[in-house]
Order: sequence, then C-alpha cells, then structure tokens
Amino acid sequence: MKLVVTFSRKAGKKPIIAQVVRDTGVLINVERALIDSSEGEALIDIPDESCALVKERLANLGAAVRVLEDIISLDESRCVDCGACISICPQEVFSFDDDWRLRMDEKKCVLCGRCIEICPHRALSHKGEG
Ligand code: SF4
Ligand code: SF4
Repeated sequence: MKLVVTFSRKAGKKPIIAQVVRDTGVLINVERALIDSSEGEALIDIPDESCALVKERLANLGAAVRVLEDIISLDESRCVDCGACISICPQEVFSFDDDWRLRMDEKKCVLCGRCIEICPHRALSHKGEG
C-alpha cells in the first residue's frame, strides 16, 4: 500500500520515517521524497497489513497521511499508442501488449508526473483530476 506522508520540519529535522521504522519494526520503502527546510513530503510503500500501525505512528509524530489508492488514469479514447510515456517513465509502468496497444501496471507508479507532462494527446492524468 502506498501512503503520501506530509510533515513539517519547522520543529526540527527529525528523521520521521526512520523513527517509524524503529518504533514499529515495519520495513518502509521510500519511493519518492521532496524535502526542503520547512516541510517534507514522501511517498512510501508498506505491507497492507501494517497500514494502520504505520499511519497511527506517523500521526503521533505530527505527520499528515493520505492513502494513495488510484494513481494514474489513462483515457484510451485519446491515446494513440505512440509510446512516449514508455520511454519517460522511470518505473516501467507502461509497456505494449502483443498488439502494440499501451498497457499499464499502476502499482509500480511513484507519481512523478513525467508521463502526464510528455503525453502529446493529454491521455494521462492523476485520477480524480480528469
Ligand atoms: S504518451 Fe500518451 S498517447 Fe502516447 S502511448 Fe502514452 S498515453 Fe498514449
Ligand atoms: S507518474 Fe511517473 S512513475 Fe507514474 S506512470 Fe507516470 S512517469 Fe511512471
């Protein structure tokens, strides 16, 4: 399960993810992190069965947590199977099937947004944004 964790750094630069790993014993895979002097946002991947425990500990440490269930949406009526998204995606989310039609493995996505920017036909979007 993927979680988006947002936390303030104004109170200090505590390694919040490392603290949760230590306190819960859950191994956390950090897939993406954007951190500046005032705030941080991390996309983490954890086992489904540990979600409640990790969310509770993160909340206790002052972080806001959002479950990322649906990530990238493909509008097949716009897609022309050009393959531009295949070459730009760092996670190998996209591939062609045997008929050279685009297919996706959303679970690999880390929400970097590159495919959305590069698609010449605006066929890709964050789910819910249209
Ligand atoms: S870049 Fe856009 S049009 Fe091209 S294959 Fe990907 S989704 Fe389809
Ligand atoms: S958002 Fe990034 S990781 Fe996700 S499918 Fe697009 S390019 Fe790949």
